[in-house]
Amino acid sequence: DNAQPKKPDWIRVKAPVSAGYKETRDIMREHKLTTVCEEAGCPNVGECWSQGHATMMIMGEVCTRACSFCNIATGKPPEALDVFEPGRVADAVAKLGLNHVVITSVDRDDVEDGGAEHFAMTIRAIRKRAPDTTIEILTPDFLKSKPGSLEVVVEARPDVFNHNLETVPGLYPEVRPGARYFHSLRLLQRVKEMDPSMFTKSGIMVGLGEDRQAVLQVMDDMRAADIDFLTIGQYLQPTPKHHRVDRFVTPEEFAGYEKAAFGKGFLMVSATPLTRSSYHAGDDFARLRDA
Ligand code: SF4
Ligand code: SF4
Repeated sequence: DNAQPKKPDWIRVKAPVSAGYKETRDIMREHKLTTVCEEAGCPNVGECWSQGHATMMIMGEVCTRACSFCNIATGKPPEALDVFEPGRVADAVAKLGLNHVVITSVDRDDVEDGGAEHFAMTIRAIRKRAPDTTIEILTPDFLKSKPGSLEVVVEARPDVFNHNLETVPGLYPEVRPGARYFHSLRLLQRVKEMDPSMFTKSGIMVGLGEDRQAVLQVMDDMRAADIDFLTIGQYLQPTPKHHRVDRFVTPEEFAGYEKAAFGKGFLMVSATPLTRSSYHAGDDFARLRDA
């Protein structure tokens, strides 16, 4: 039976109509930038953009992986990396006057270093043009990249290094083929070893068919790898071709996950139905930094 459970009323989406939304969209268009907010059809786009929060996607619009929950086009990317992109990202960040920016990318297994130097250039360009903006990167796993790639990114010193585990290990073959659970975990641990002052962050989606025990185990694995911040949100199916929603996790269950996560020692936890990896990332970071 492939029928989807019905969307409950706690998954509600506000229409993106504010002036802030339009301004953000115009600046992105003008700088030829792609946002995850739009590409992934994120339900928070109205709220985030009206507050000047956005997640920009670099390195093109075609991904070399094909995760079953993700709405990004997959295949062989038609173009090499655009050397002018880091500058355009930095300009847009400065123009939008962001306090905190999230930079993410498609996976580029066709590039030797997986785009590590491109990430580093982007971080450096933002630092130069928008020195007060804190920078969070949400990276690919560099699984097929040449040795030393991760180091290049860490040496550019983003404020927060985020890489999502996405789901429990048992669901990797169907949800995240091409990735390895323990590789991703180890990646974050290596970031912390290289620079203990850098915040590390990861997240998973729920409602894909995992059980509670497996989610709690992922939390333990993350803490063993010294991961600081955790996000947990409801998986939503972008199109009928994507992985089905197994169930809608209730707000009470999310509250239970949040409580458990704080108990395990995460510094910051966001676990709600509409939590996304980059949702309110700036507010949380500022709160923590000023605490
Ligand atoms: Fe964009 Fe993240 Fe906000 Fe969604 S939660 S609209 S992806 S900044
Ligand atoms: Fe989507 Fe990232 Fe998977 Fe590519 S690697 S398909 S962008 S989730």
